[in-house]
Amino acid sequence: MAIDYAPLVPPAGLPPLLVNLYSDTQTKPTAGMKAAMMDAEVGDEQFGLDPTTNALAERMAKMMGKEAAVFLPSGTMCNQIAILTHCRPGDEILAHESAHILTSEGGGAAALTGAQITGLRGDKGLFSADTLRAGIRSKSRYSPPQTLMEVEQTANSGGGVVWPQAQLDEVAAIAHEAGMATHMDGARLMNAVVASGIPVAEMVKSYDSLWLDFTKGLGTPIGAVLCGSHEFIGAAWRWKQRLGGSMRQSGIIAAACLYALDHNIDRLADDHANAKAMVRGLGQIPGLVPEDATTNLVFFDCSATGMTAGAFADKARRHGLALSTTGQYRVRACTHLDVSAADIDTALAILRDVVG
Ligand SMILES: *Cc1c(COP(=O)(O)O)cnc(C)c1O
Repeated sequence: MAIDYAPLVPPAGLPPLLVNLYSDTQTKPTAGMKAAMMDAEVGDEQFGLDPTTNALAERMAKMMGKEAAVFLPSGTMCNQIAILTHCRPGDEILAHESAHILTSEGGGAAALTGAQITGLRGDKGLFSADTLRAGIRSKSRYSPPQTLMEVEQTANSGGGVVWPQAQLDEVAAIAHEAGMATHMDGARLMNAVVASGIPVAEMVKSYDSLWLDFTKGLGTPIGAVLCGSHEFIGAAWRWKQRLGGSMRQSGIIAAACLYALDHNIDRLADDHANAKAMVRGLGQIPGLVPEDATTNLVFFDCSATGMTAGAFADKARRHGLALSTTGQYRVRACTHLDVSAADIDTALAILRDVVG
Protein backbone atom coordinates (compact mmCIF):
# COMPACT_ATOMS: atom_id res chain seq x y z
CA MET A 1 0.00 0.00 0.00
CA ALA A 2 1.29 3.44 -0.91
CA ILE A 3 2.15 5.70 1.98
CA ASP A 4 1.34 9.36 1.59
CA TYR A 5 4.53 10.92 2.82
CA ALA A 6 4.24 14.20 0.96
CA PRO A 7 5.14 17.23 3.06
CA LEU A 8 2.58 20.05 3.15
CA VAL A 9 4.50 22.35 0.79
CA PRO A 10 2.57 25.07 -1.03
CA PRO A 11 2.50 24.86 -4.84
CA ALA A 12 5.11 26.81 -6.82
CA GLY A 13 4.45 30.19 -8.41
CA LEU A 14 2.59 31.82 -5.54
CA PRO A 15 3.01 35.54 -4.80
CA PRO A 16 5.26 36.47 -1.85
CA LEU A 17 3.85 35.83 1.60
CA LEU A 18 2.85 39.12 3.26
CA VAL A 19 1.51 37.70 6.53
CA ASN A 20 1.99 34.16 7.83
CA LEU A 21 -0.80 33.12 10.19
CA TYR A 22 -0.43 29.44 9.25
CA SER A 23 1.06 28.32 12.56
CA ASP A 24 3.04 29.55 15.56
CA THR A 25 5.59 26.87 14.59
CA GLN A 26 6.79 28.93 11.62
CA THR A 27 8.68 31.60 13.56
CA LYS A 28 12.37 32.18 12.82
CA PRO A 29 14.95 32.44 15.62
CA THR A 30 15.79 36.07 16.42
CA ALA A 31 19.31 37.57 16.44
CA GLY A 32 19.36 37.45 20.26
CA MET A 33 18.36 33.80 20.28
CA LYS A 34 20.97 32.90 17.67
CA ALA A 35 23.67 34.73 19.67
CA ALA A 36 22.71 32.69 22.77
CA MET A 37 22.99 29.51 20.68
CA MET A 38 26.43 30.50 19.36
CA ASP A 39 27.70 31.10 22.87
CA ALA A 40 26.30 27.90 24.45
CA GLU A 41 28.61 25.74 26.53
CA VAL A 42 28.26 22.20 25.26
CA GLY A 43 29.17 18.59 26.00
CA ASP A 44 27.88 15.07 25.25
CA GLU A 45 24.21 14.98 26.23
CA GLN A 46 23.96 11.16 26.15
CA PHE A 47 26.56 11.06 28.91
CA GLY A 48 24.81 13.80 30.90
CA LEU A 49 27.72 16.12 30.11
CA ASP A 50 26.01 18.96 28.29
CA PRO A 51 25.88 21.77 30.88
CA THR A 52 23.36 23.92 28.97
CA THR A 53 20.92 21.03 28.49
CA ASN A 54 21.32 20.07 32.16
CA ALA A 55 20.63 23.67 33.18
CA LEU A 56 17.47 23.73 31.06
CA ALA A 57 16.17 20.46 32.55
CA GLU A 58 16.85 21.66 36.10
CA ARG A 59 15.23 25.01 35.48
CA MET A 60 12.13 23.43 33.92
CA ALA A 61 11.68 20.86 36.72
CA LYS A 62 11.86 23.65 39.29
CA MET A 63 9.54 25.94 37.34
CA MET A 64 6.92 23.18 36.96
CA GLY A 65 7.23 22.01 40.57
CA LYS A 66 8.29 18.49 39.50
CA GLU A 67 11.29 16.38 40.57
CA ALA A 68 12.95 16.00 37.18
CA ALA A 69 12.85 16.84 33.48
CA VAL A 70 14.28 15.61 30.19
CA PHE A 71 15.04 17.52 26.99
CA LEU A 72 13.56 16.04 23.81
CA PRO A 73 13.58 17.10 20.14
CA SER A 74 9.81 17.59 19.80
CA GLY A 75 6.45 17.72 21.52
CA THR A 76 5.32 14.59 19.69
CA MET A 77 8.25 12.68 21.17
CA CYS A 78 7.29 13.99 24.64
CA ASN A 79 3.74 12.65 24.21
CA GLN A 80 4.88 9.31 22.80
CA ILE A 81 7.54 8.77 25.47
CA ALA A 82 5.03 9.69 28.19
CA ILE A 83 2.56 7.14 26.78
CA LEU A 84 5.32 4.49 26.49
CA THR A 85 6.30 5.17 30.11
CA HIS A 86 2.80 5.28 31.65
CA CYS A 87 1.13 2.51 29.60
CA ARG A 88 1.55 -1.13 28.51
CA PRO A 89 0.25 -2.86 25.35
CA GLY A 90 -3.53 -3.28 25.58
CA ASP A 91 -4.01 -0.32 27.89
CA GLU A 92 -6.56 2.38 27.25
CA ILE A 93 -5.97 6.15 27.34
CA LEU A 94 -8.81 8.63 27.84
CA ALA A 95 -8.41 11.98 26.06
CA HIS A 96 -10.59 14.46 24.20
CA GLU A 97 -11.64 13.20 20.76
CA SER A 98 -9.82 16.15 19.13
CA ALA A 99 -6.58 15.60 21.11
CA HIS A 100 -3.30 15.85 19.19
CA ILE A 101 -2.30 12.34 20.41
CA LEU A 102 -5.42 10.97 18.72
CA THR A 103 -5.53 13.03 15.52
CA SER A 104 -2.01 14.10 14.64
CA GLU A 105 0.71 11.69 15.81
CA GLY A 106 0.42 9.02 13.11
CA GLY A 107 -1.36 6.59 15.42
CA GLY A 108 1.74 6.59 17.65
CA ALA A 109 0.04 5.28 20.81
CA ALA A 110 -1.11 2.19 18.89
CA ALA A 111 2.04 1.80 16.78
CA LEU A 112 4.63 2.27 19.54
CA THR A 113 2.98 1.40 22.88
CA GLY A 114 0.13 -0.80 21.62
CA ALA A 115 -2.32 1.33 23.61
CA GLN A 116 -5.75 2.45 22.43
CA ILE A 117 -7.09 5.96 22.88
CA THR A 118 -10.78 6.53 23.52
CA GLY A 119 -11.93 10.02 22.56
CA LEU A 120 -14.16 11.86 25.01
CA ARG A 121 -16.66 14.42 23.78
CA GLY A 122 -17.02 17.97 25.03
CA ASP A 123 -17.17 21.56 23.81
CA LYS A 124 -13.99 23.37 22.76
CA GLY A 125 -11.58 20.50 23.34
CA LEU A 126 -12.46 20.16 27.04
CA PHE A 127 -14.42 17.34 28.71
CA SER A 128 -16.42 17.50 31.92
CA ALA A 129 -16.02 15.50 35.11
CA ASP A 130 -19.27 13.67 34.25
CA THR A 131 -18.05 12.74 30.77
CA LEU A 132 -14.83 11.38 32.23
CA ARG A 133 -16.73 9.40 34.88
CA ALA A 134 -18.97 7.93 32.19
CA GLY A 135 -15.84 6.83 30.30
CA ILE A 136 -14.40 4.89 33.21
CA ARG A 137 -15.02 1.16 32.85
CA SER A 138 -15.62 -1.29 35.65
CA LYS A 139 -12.50 -3.33 36.15
CA SER A 140 -12.87 -6.85 34.79
CA ARG A 141 -11.04 -9.34 32.61
CA TYR A 142 -13.04 -7.96 29.66
CA SER A 143 -12.12 -4.32 29.89
CA PRO A 144 -8.83 -2.77 28.79
CA PRO A 145 -6.79 -1.51 31.74
CA GLN A 146 -7.35 2.26 31.79
CA THR A 147 -4.00 3.66 32.81
CA LEU A 148 -3.77 7.22 31.50
CA MET A 149 -5.93 10.34 31.25
CA GLU A 150 -4.62 13.14 29.02
CA VAL A 151 -5.54 16.82 28.62
CA GLU A 152 -4.26 19.51 26.27
CA GLN A 153 -3.51 22.97 27.71
CA THR A 154 -4.40 25.04 25.72
CA ALA A 155 -6.83 22.87 23.73
CA ASN A 156 -5.62 23.41 20.14
CA SER A 157 -8.60 22.23 18.04
CA GLY A 158 -10.88 23.51 20.78
CA GLY A 159 -9.91 27.06 19.79
CA GLY A 160 -6.86 27.60 22.01
CA VAL A 161 -9.11 27.44 25.05
CA VAL A 162 -7.62 27.45 28.56
CA TRP A 163 -8.91 24.71 30.88
CA PRO A 164 -10.47 26.33 33.97
CA GLN A 165 -8.24 25.38 36.92
CA ALA A 166 -11.03 23.76 38.97
CA GLN A 167 -12.00 21.52 36.03
CA LEU A 168 -8.37 20.60 35.36
CA ASP A 169 -7.95 19.54 39.00
CA GLU A 170 -11.32 17.79 39.17
CA VAL A 171 -10.76 15.53 36.15
CA ALA A 172 -7.27 14.69 37.46
CA ALA A 173 -8.70 13.69 40.85
CA ILE A 174 -11.29 11.43 39.18
CA ALA A 175 -8.58 9.82 37.03
CA HIS A 176 -6.30 9.22 40.02
CA GLU A 177 -9.22 7.78 42.00
CA ALA A 178 -9.77 5.29 39.16
CA GLY A 179 -6.08 4.32 39.20
CA MET A 180 -5.02 6.27 36.11
CA ALA A 181 -1.95 8.46 35.74
CA THR A 182 -2.49 12.01 34.44
CA HIS A 183 -0.59 13.63 31.56
CA MET A 184 -0.74 17.17 30.22
CA ASP A 185 0.12 18.03 26.61
CA GLY A 186 1.45 21.52 27.25
CA ALA A 187 2.32 22.46 23.68
CA ARG A 188 0.95 25.94 24.51
CA LEU A 189 1.05 25.77 28.31
CA MET A 190 2.67 29.20 28.71
CA ASN A 191 -0.10 30.76 26.59
CA ALA A 192 -2.54 29.37 29.18
CA VAL A 193 -0.42 30.75 32.02
CA VAL A 194 -0.14 34.23 30.50
CA ALA A 195 -3.84 34.34 29.59
CA SER A 196 -5.06 33.17 33.03
CA GLY A 197 -2.41 34.65 35.34
CA ILE A 198 -2.27 31.33 37.21
CA PRO A 199 1.31 30.40 38.20
CA VAL A 200 2.51 27.49 36.08
CA ALA A 201 3.41 25.12 38.96
CA GLU A 202 -0.10 25.63 40.35
CA MET A 203 -1.65 24.98 36.94
CA VAL A 204 0.11 21.62 36.48
CA LYS A 205 0.09 20.39 40.10
CA SER A 206 -2.50 17.62 39.53
CA TYR A 207 -0.60 16.15 36.56
CA ASP A 208 1.95 13.35 36.96
CA SER A 209 3.69 14.32 33.74
CA LEU A 210 3.62 17.36 31.49
CA TRP A 211 5.66 18.96 28.76
CA LEU A 212 6.17 22.35 27.20
CA ASP A 213 6.89 22.96 23.53
CA PHE A 214 9.52 25.60 22.80
CA THR A 215 8.78 25.68 19.06
CA LYS A 216 5.26 27.10 19.31
CA GLY A 217 4.76 30.56 20.84
CA LEU A 218 8.20 30.53 22.46
CA GLY A 219 9.90 30.70 19.09
CA THR A 220 12.82 28.23 19.16
CA PRO A 221 13.78 26.11 16.15
CA ILE A 222 13.82 22.76 18.06
CA GLY A 223 13.00 21.39 21.47
CA ALA A 224 10.49 20.40 24.13
CA VAL A 225 10.91 19.44 27.80
CA LEU A 226 9.04 16.60 29.55
CA CYS A 227 8.69 16.83 33.35
CA GLY A 228 7.64 14.41 36.10
CA SER A 229 8.90 12.38 39.05
CA HIS A 230 12.47 11.04 39.26
CA GLU A 231 11.15 7.55 38.55
CA PHE A 232 9.09 8.68 35.54
CA ILE A 233 11.93 10.69 34.00
CA GLY A 234 14.37 7.80 34.59
CA ALA A 235 12.09 5.50 32.57
CA ALA A 236 11.52 8.23 29.98
CA TRP A 237 15.30 8.53 29.50
CA ARG A 238 15.46 4.83 28.53
CA TRP A 239 12.81 5.46 25.82
CA LYS A 240 14.69 8.58 24.67
CA GLN A 241 17.77 6.42 24.19
CA ARG A 242 15.82 3.60 22.47
CA LEU A 243 14.07 5.96 20.05
CA GLY A 244 17.21 7.89 19.15
CA GLY A 245 16.16 11.05 20.93
CA SER A 246 19.32 11.06 22.99
CA MET A 247 21.54 13.79 21.59
CA ARG A 248 25.16 15.04 21.64
CA GLN A 249 25.99 18.77 21.85
CA SER A 250 22.31 19.63 22.38
CA GLY A 251 23.31 22.73 24.37
CA ILE A 252 23.22 24.57 21.02
CA ILE A 253 19.43 24.16 21.00
CA ALA A 254 18.86 24.10 24.77
CA ALA A 255 20.42 27.59 24.85
CA ALA A 256 17.62 28.79 22.54
CA CYS A 257 15.08 27.34 25.00
CA LEU A 258 16.72 29.08 27.99
CA TYR A 259 16.71 32.31 25.98
CA ALA A 260 12.99 31.81 25.25
CA LEU A 261 12.22 31.34 28.97
CA ASP A 262 13.91 34.69 29.67
CA HIS A 263 12.55 36.71 26.74
CA ASN A 264 9.53 35.17 25.07
CA ILE A 265 6.97 34.36 27.78
CA ASP A 266 5.57 37.75 28.82
CA ARG A 267 5.29 38.84 25.20
CA LEU A 268 2.72 36.06 24.56
CA ALA A 269 0.23 38.67 25.84
CA ASP A 270 0.89 40.59 22.57
CA ASP A 271 -0.06 37.49 20.55
CA HIS A 272 -3.27 37.19 22.56
CA ALA A 273 -4.10 40.88 21.99
CA ASN A 274 -3.42 40.46 18.25
CA ALA A 275 -5.71 37.40 18.19
CA LYS A 276 -8.51 39.40 19.84
CA ALA A 277 -8.02 42.25 17.32
CA MET A 278 -8.22 39.66 14.54
CA VAL A 279 -11.52 38.32 15.93
CA ARG A 280 -12.97 41.85 16.13
CA GLY A 281 -11.96 42.53 12.51
CA LEU A 282 -13.24 39.17 11.25
CA GLY A 283 -16.60 39.85 12.85
CA GLN A 284 -16.98 42.88 10.54
CA ILE A 285 -16.30 40.94 7.34
CA PRO A 286 -19.55 39.65 5.80
CA GLY A 287 -19.59 35.86 5.48
CA LEU A 288 -16.98 35.16 8.14
CA VAL A 289 -18.02 34.02 11.62
CA PRO A 290 -15.16 34.01 14.16
CA GLU A 291 -15.10 32.00 17.39
CA ASP A 292 -13.96 33.81 20.55
CA ALA A 293 -10.18 33.84 21.01
CA THR A 294 -8.67 33.64 24.49
CA THR A 295 -5.07 32.89 23.50
CA ASN A 296 -3.21 32.95 20.17
CA LEU A 297 -5.42 30.70 18.05
CA VAL A 298 -8.23 32.23 16.00
CA PHE A 299 -10.81 30.03 14.26
CA PHE A 300 -13.54 31.17 11.93
CA ASP A 301 -16.29 29.66 9.83
CA CYS A 302 -16.31 30.56 6.12
CA SER A 303 -19.36 28.54 4.99
CA ALA A 304 -21.41 31.68 4.19
CA THR A 305 -18.81 32.68 1.55
CA GLY A 306 -19.72 29.56 -0.44
CA MET A 307 -16.10 28.39 -0.25
CA THR A 308 -14.77 25.39 1.66
CA ALA A 309 -12.00 26.11 4.15
CA GLY A 310 -9.48 24.64 1.70
CA ALA A 311 -10.64 26.83 -1.19
CA PHE A 312 -10.74 29.86 1.13
CA ALA A 313 -7.19 29.29 2.40
CA ASP A 314 -5.92 28.75 -1.17
CA LYS A 315 -7.48 32.03 -2.27
CA ALA A 316 -6.06 33.87 0.75
CA ARG A 317 -2.61 32.46 -0.05
CA ARG A 318 -2.86 33.77 -3.60
CA HIS A 319 -3.42 37.20 -1.99
CA GLY A 320 -0.31 36.77 0.22
CA LEU A 321 -1.87 35.48 3.46
CA ALA A 322 -1.18 31.98 4.84
CA LEU A 323 -3.92 30.33 6.93
CA SER A 324 -4.53 26.72 7.94
CA THR A 325 -7.73 24.68 7.91
CA THR A 326 -9.14 22.31 10.53
CA GLY A 327 -12.51 21.31 9.15
CA GLN A 328 -14.66 21.53 6.05
CA TYR A 329 -15.51 25.19 6.71
CA ARG A 330 -13.28 25.98 9.69
CA VAL A 331 -10.18 28.10 9.09
CA ARG A 332 -7.40 28.77 11.62
CA ALA A 333 -5.25 31.90 11.96
CA CYS A 334 -2.45 31.77 14.45
CA THR A 335 -0.68 34.77 15.98
CA HIS A 336 2.96 34.55 17.06
CA LEU A 337 6.37 36.19 17.54
CA ASP A 338 6.73 37.14 13.87
CA VAL A 339 3.27 38.79 13.58
CA SER A 340 2.77 42.45 14.57
CA ALA A 341 -0.42 44.44 15.18
CA ALA A 342 0.15 46.06 11.75
CA ASP A 343 0.32 42.59 10.18
CA ILE A 344 -3.15 41.86 11.60
CA ASP A 345 -4.49 44.97 9.81
CA THR A 346 -2.85 43.76 6.59
CA ALA A 347 -4.33 40.28 7.06
CA LEU A 348 -7.81 41.72 7.60
CA ALA A 349 -7.50 43.90 4.47
CA ILE A 350 -6.52 40.81 2.47
CA LEU A 351 -9.48 38.88 3.89
CA ARG A 352 -11.89 41.65 2.85
CA ASP A 353 -10.54 41.23 -0.72
CA VAL A 354 -10.79 37.45 -0.54
CA VAL A 355 -14.47 37.63 0.46
CA GLY A 356 -15.39 40.65 -1.68
C1 LIG B 1 2.24 21.01 18.00
C2 LIG B 1 1.53 20.16 18.99
C3 LIG B 1 2.08 18.93 19.41
C4 LIG B 1 3.34 18.34 18.81
O1 LIG B 1 4.45 19.13 18.98
P1 LIG B 1 5.69 19.03 17.96
O2 LIG B 1 6.75 19.78 18.67
O3 LIG B 1 5.23 19.66 16.68
O4 LIG B 1 6.01 17.59 17.78
C5 LIG B 1 1.40 18.23 20.36
N1 LIG B 1 0.25 18.70 20.90
C6 LIG B 1 -0.31 19.86 20.51
C7 LIG B 1 -1.57 20.33 21.16
C8 LIG B 1 0.31 20.62 19.54
O5 LIG B 1 -0.26 21.76 19.13
